[in-house]
Amino acid sequence: MDIVKGNMGWIEVIVGPMFSGKSEELIRRLRRAEIARQRVQIFKPAIDQRYADNGIVSHSGLGMRSDNVADAAEVLRKVEPRTEVIGIDEAQFLGDGLVDACTKLADTGKRVIVSGLDTDFLGRPFEPMPTLLAVAEEITKLLAICVRCGNPAVHTQRLVASDDLIVVGAGGMYEARCRRCFEPHPAHEQSAPEQSAQEKENHKSAVNTGRTAR
Ligand code: ADP
Ligand code: ZN
Repeated sequence: MDIVKGNMGWIEVIVGPMFSGKSEELIRRLRRAEIARQRVQIFKPAIDQRYADNGIVSHSGLGMRSDNVADAAEVLRKVEPRTEVIGIDEAQFLGDGLVDACTKLADTGKRVIVSGLDTDFLGRPFEPMPTLLAVAEEITKLLAICVRCGNPAVHTQRLVASDDLIVVGAGGMYEARCRRCFEPHPAHEQSAPEQSAQEKENHKSAVNTGRTAR
């Protein structure tokens, strides 16, 4: 956003898998706004208490104070009229109302910077982020590094067995994977219901010999 005249607002979205540097990038932009003496407010979903109760924190340890909110409507209620820049982290947890809330804030002249996961643990678009990408002025897609092979990673691999869309966790529960190494349905879950005796035997020997059953 090089040229912005008057008090026009806009929406910036930062997406990517876990560990791709979304929080770092959000914090970088918000710090620069503070250095420019702009009034900044930062929000994160109350559901996400992994690293700090009242702050956004990156996996590399950077942090900034933030307000917890239950949903996007609460962001609207908490934004003060004189605030110029609004940062929202882990926005995928704030529900469909987020798109309207960000649009309202941008329409009233505020710069809104939103960071969140654009895909879920199965690699599916994770609403409301995809819709937000469509209405934003500026979008940044970051990639992590695949922990298996070192290639650019677009996916968030869930390492614990659960079909729930939201399982909040970090260390040991998720890792970054490239499209080749991503396993949305790890073999042990996939083959559970109608596994033949032969398949079971194959799986057992694969596990016993330490081979990964793919
Ligand atoms: P996000 O908000 O996207 O989850 P963060 O900004 O919290 O990402 O963390 C990014 C930092 O995480 C990187 O700068 C790096 O220090 C660290 N990191 C740990 N694992 C990885 C990985 N697999 N790929 C890239 N960075 C990683
Ligand atoms: Zn890989």
